[in-house]
This record gives sequence, C-alpha cells and structure tokens, in this order.
Amino acid sequence: MAVYLDNAATTKPCAEAVQAAVDAMTINFGNPSSLHRAGLDAQIAVDRARKVIADSIGADPACLYFTSGATESNNLALRGAAAAYGRKRRKIVISAVEHASVEETAAALEKSGFEVVRVSPRGDGRFCPEDFIAACDDDTCLLSMMYVNNETGYILPVKEVFSAVKRRFPDIVTHCDCVQAYMKLPVKVNALGADLISLSAHKIHGAKGVGALFIRKGVRVVPIVTGGKQEKGIRSGTESVPLIVAFGAAAEKLAPTIQERWDRVSGLKAYLLGKIAEIGGISVNSPDDGSPYVVNISAEGKRSEIMLHFLESKGIYVSSGSACSKGQQSGVLGQFGITGKRADSALRISMTAETTEADLDELCEALREGLEKVRG
Ligand code: PMP
Repeated sequence: MAVYLDNAATTKPCAEAVQAAVDAMTINFGNPSSLHRAGLDAQIAVDRARKVIADSIGADPACLYFTSGATESNNLALRGAAAAYGRKRRKIVISAVEHASVEETAAALEKSGFEVVRVSPRGDGRFCPEDFIAACDDDTCLLSMMYVNNETGYILPVKEVFSAVKRRFPDIVTHCDCVQAYMKLPVKVNALGADLISLSAHKIHGAKGVGALFIRKGVRVVPIVTGGKQEKGIRSGTESVPLIVAFGAAAEKLAPTIQERWDRVSGLKAYLLGKIAEIGGISVNSPDDGSPYVVNISAEGKRSEIMLHFLESKGIYVSSGSACSKGQQSGVLGQFGITGKRADSALRISMTAETTEADLDELCEALREGLEKVRG
C-alpha cells in the first residue's frame, strides 16, 4: 500500500463524508430550491452542514456561503470586496506568500487599476506584523493574508496584524485564507479579526469541489457568479448537496479533536526531523514553530522531480514545492529565503493524524537510498 504524504494537496475523504455524499446522491437527491418535500429535505441537509461548519469557526450560519472550493472563495473575497469598496479606495495589501488563487486574483485586480502591495518576510524568513500595518493606509480597501502557508507550514501573524490594522483603519476589509489551518488550528472568526474567511473541504477529509466563504454581517461582497440567487444571491448555482453534506460530516468529525491531532502530528514532525538529521545531507525549509502538518525539506543536489519520482517508485507520495501550482515553482519558497539549488530540490511532506511512524520510517529509508542512487 502506498504511503500517502501529500495531505496538503488533498486528503482522503473520511468514511462519514463518503456516506453523507452517497445518501445525498441516492436518497436525499432533491434540489434545495424546489418547493416540495424532496427540495425541503435537501435544503435541511445543506443548512445542517452550514450550521456545523459555522459553529466550528464561531460564526453565525447566516454568514457562511458555500462555493466550489477555496479558489472560488478567494476569488469571491478579493474581487467581491474590491468591487464593493474599491471605487474610492484603490489599494489592496496581501502577503507575498499567498496561494495562487489569491496572488493571481490580486494580480488581475492590479491590471484593472488597483495598487497591490505585497508584504514579504524579513531576511530571516519571518513576517513582521509592523510591515503589514505600515503597508496599509486610508486608501486601502482590502488586506488579505493566509493563516498557514501551504508550502512550508509557516504560521502568519494574522491575529496581531488584523487587530492592529482594524484599530487604525476600521474600514479595511480583512480576508484570511484558512485552508491549511482549518481543523488543524482553532480558526475562530472573532479571535482572528477576519471579515472574510476561505475554507476548503478536501483538505479536511471532505470532497474536492466544495468550499465556503465566511462573510461577516454588514460586510459587502459583490457576487462573481450570478444567476438563480442561491446562497442569498452571493453564489448562484444549484448547491452541490452531496459535496456540501460531505463537508459538514468531515467538519463534524474533526472539530472535537483539533488539539489532540495537533499534538499527535507535532510528535510525528519531531520524529521525522530526528530521522532526517540522522540521514544527513537534507536541509529543513520549514520553521520549527510552523504547522507540523507540513514539513518542507531539500535533499541537497537532488532535483525535486527526480527525487519525487524515485520516492514514487517506492510507493511513497510527496509533493515538489506546491502541488497546487501544477509543478511550477511559485516563488513562495524564495520569499522565505529558500533559493537556488535548495529550492530546486525542495520536497513537501504533508501529514495527517493517520500518518504513522512506520510511514515516516519508509520515507526516510527511501530518502537515504535516493540520496545515494539518484543522480542530481
Ligand atoms: N489556498 C490554499 C492555502 C491552498 O492550499 C489551496 C489548495 N491547494 C487553495 C487555497 C485552493 O483550494 P481549492 O483546492 O479548494 O480550490
């Protein structure tokens, strides 16, 4: 059986999520907009999932909107808030390490006339909250920063930045891409100080193709998908009931064990780093205080893709840099000070609470062999 260590790219759906989806495709298959009983039952199932997910982030269910995934949530957050607030205030501040779904969207808004300021980590690879605060001003309509970076596991100082920015500039809309933090760290809308929060189901053992956007009451977002006015007009299109109920089932399962799983995966990260140090010739690109779920390493002198396929030949699946960018280097590692040959050999190992020490033993054995056999 393969050792799957690419959980930041996607996770295996849990049995509860699969069952919920099957039920919604076989029994409860109505259209939530239909006025008869079958429609009502589907609407009840969608709203139940909405309540579970909203509760898990400390939000009012009325503030949670389902989308086709975090890529759409991020597009809706940036484009929607820019359209609502960007007429007079023309500046958008983002971190320089955002996922492509934020970075490319900001770049598109930049082309259409917005000024986009990208805040980078300092020379030591760490973000300084003051740099975000200094980048914001009275002309800024939106500040977007992710909670946990998908390539390195770096945890951005979102709470500090959002609370300081809100104190100085209460009109700035704050958005947080919580995809790699949700169900790993507590994600609470008030503690984070976020007006908009993006979530994705397939990173938490739900299904691909569904996500959500939290929109704080009173914050305006202009829809990007128009039509039948589902999701209160914020996101038209018949709701994907099977994917939504699977999302709810996965969230319900994971919500009670956030701390327990974090502790377990922290133990796994420590175990992995210990073994990697024993092998030698491998540098660690993730910070010590990052999310333990993501461990980015460089097997010096061995190109990522070559090592990735060597590991694959041993039945071990990892990612080179970020799988989300279809193998392209995103430049995010460079922002964290990982450049040149070290970036060319970066591998991302991403775990889940079901990962075992035996899985990591297999990985390390294969890495050791790869370092000897694989030509740079
Ligand atoms: N943001 C981050 C940080 C991610 O890791 C991902 C998934 N690669 C996304 C956004 C996009 O999520 P989705 O696959 O649901 O569109």
